[in-house]
Amino acid sequence: MSDRKQLFDKLMTKLGLDPVPQSLVGGELCDGHGAVITLEDPYTRVTLAQYADCEVELARRACEHAADAQRKWSQDFSAADRGNVMQLIATAVDHNVEALAQLEAVVAGKPLRDCRVEVSKVVEMFRYYAGWADKLHGEVIPVPSGHLNYTLREPLGVVLQITPWNAPLFTAGWQIAPAIATGNGVVIKPSELTPVTSVALVLLAESAGLPKGLVNVLAGLGPTAGEAAIAHDAVRKVIFVGSRETGRTVATSAGRSLKPVLLELGGKSANIVFPDANLQAACRGAQAAIFSASGQSCVAGSRLLVHRDVQEPFLDMLESGMKMLTLGDPLDDSTEVGPISNARQYQRVSDMVRQARDQDGARVIAGDTPKGDGFFVPPTILADLAPDAIAASQEIFGPVVTSLAFLDDAEAIDIANSTDFGLAAAVWTSDVSRAHRIAAAVRAGTFWINSYKAIHVSSPFGGSHSSGFGRSSGTDALLEYTSPKSVWVDTASTPRIAFGYTADAG
Ligand code: NAD
Repeated sequence: MSDRKQLFDKLMTKLGLDPVPQSLVGGELCDGHGAVITLEDPYTRVTLAQYADCEVELARRACEHAADAQRKWSQDFSAADRGNVMQLIATAVDHNVEALAQLEAVVAGKPLRDCRVEVSKVVEMFRYYAGWADKLHGEVIPVPSGHLNYTLREPLGVVLQITPWNAPLFTAGWQIAPAIATGNGVVIKPSELTPVTSVALVLLAESAGLPKGLVNVLAGLGPTAGEAAIAHDAVRKVIFVGSRETGRTVATSAGRSLKPVLLELGGKSANIVFPDANLQAACRGAQAAIFSASGQSCVAGSRLLVHRDVQEPFLDMLESGMKMLTLGDPLDDSTEVGPISNARQYQRVSDMVRQARDQDGARVIAGDTPKGDGFFVPPTILADLAPDAIAASQEIFGPVVTSLAFLDDAEAIDIANSTDFGLAAAVWTSDVSRAHRIAAAVRAGTFWINSYKAIHVSSPFGGSHSSGFGRSSGTDALLEYTSPKSVWVDTASTPRIAFGYTADAG
C-alpha cells in the first residue's frame, strides 16, 4: 500500500470514519449502493478510495431525518442552547485542526498551510453564528390600525446545500453554521470528489452535542443524490455553490417545485492596476489573486487589467515573482502552490490554455512544474488576447491569468464589465477618488481597493448575473436562512372584524 493511501486511511480512522467513504444519515455512517466513485490523490495519482454513490434512497432518508431533528432543534432547544452547542462544535473542530487539514490536503491537493487556515476559519464561522443564535429577533411595526403587529424570523425547515470540491470543509462550515444557528435542519451534498471532510466535520459536531440527524451528509453524485434531495418535499430551500452550468440545472430542478435557491457560482474577476499604484504591492496582490490555491478559487483574479503605460514592466515583475513560487507536495509545509485538484479539472485547464495559444493567438508566459505524476499546471500568464476570447471571458479555474491592457478609467470599467459574471473585482491605485469611482462602476459582489481576496464570515459574500444571486456570510446569511412571519394582534376592546384593513390584504 502506498504511503499516501496509508496516510489517508490513518486520517480517516483518526476522525472516526471508515477508510471507504460513507454518507452520514440520521447519525449513522451508511454505505451507498450506486455507481463506483474513485478518489484519486492529485499529487501522486494513487487511488485513495473507491466508494458507491449514496443514490436516491439515502438522499430521501437524509431529508426525513433532517425534518424530524429540525422540529426538535427549533422547538426543544432555546436559541441560547443552540448557540452553546455551536460553541462546543467550534471547540471540537479547533482540537482537530491538524487531522482535518491533512485530510483536506490529501484529498483536494491543496497546500497544507492553506488547509490549516481554512479549518481555523470554520472554527471562526461556528463561533460567529453561535453568537448570533439568540440575537436574531423580529421587530414591532407601528401599523396605522391600532393592532399590535410584530414579526418573527422563523427557520425555513430543511435546507439542502450542494457544494463543490475546491474548498470542501470551508464551504461546509460556511453554510452549515448559519443554517443551524437559525434553527434549520441540513442535508449537505459535497462534491463526490471531496466528501470526506464534510462527513468528518458533522461527526465531530455530533460528538460535541449536535443532535444526530440534524445535519446529514450525502456522499454521492449530483444527478442521483442531489436531484433526489432537491425534489424531496421536506427541503424548503436549495443553497448551491458551484459552476454556472450546474447552477442553472439545479435552479431549474428547484423551480419545478417552487423552491427558492441561493446560487454562489463562478467568476472571471477583474484585477485593475493603474500606473499610480504601489506596483510592487499590486504585483504581490495579483500573484496571490490567481496563483494561490492554483487559481481554484471562485474569486480568483483571473483577468489582470493593467494600464498600457506599465503593462510590460508589470508582466515582467509578475513573471519573476511567479517563477519564485514553490510548487510541490501539498503536504509539504513549504509548498505554496499544489496540483489541480482532479483529473477532470486538469484536463479542462490544459485544454483552455492550449486553445488560447493555438487558436486565439495568446502569448503564453509560463513557469515550471515539478517532476512527477501530479496534476500540475504551471502558473501561466496569457497576454495579447482580445477581451472576448474564451480564455479572457470564461472561467478557467486554474493558475492562469489573462492580461489585458487599458488606456483610461472608462476603458478599464468597460473591460471589467464585459463578461457575464459579477462576483469580485479589485483596483490598485493611490488616487482615492478614482478608487471609489471604479468600485462603484464595476459589477461585483465583493470589491477590493489595494487588496485582494480579503473575506470574513461577518461580511456579505455573493455575486450577480452569471455569478449567482443571494448572499452568504454576515447577517445576510441569517436572512437567507429564515423567513419573516408577520403577526397581528387586535388590541381594540371590541375586536375589529375583517372588512377594514384586512379586506385590502388579498
Ligand atoms: P460543479 O457545478 O461541477 O459541482 C458542484 C456540485 O454540484 C457538486 O456537488 C456536484 O456533485 C453537484 N451537481 C452536479 N450536477 C448536479 C445536479 N444535476 N443536481 C444537483 N447537484 C449536482 O462545480 P465544481 O466543479 O465542483 O466546482 C467548481 C465551481 O464552483 C467553479 O465554477 C467555482 O467558481 C464555483 N465556486 C463558487 C463559489 C462561490 O462562492 N461563488 C465558491 C467555490 C466554488
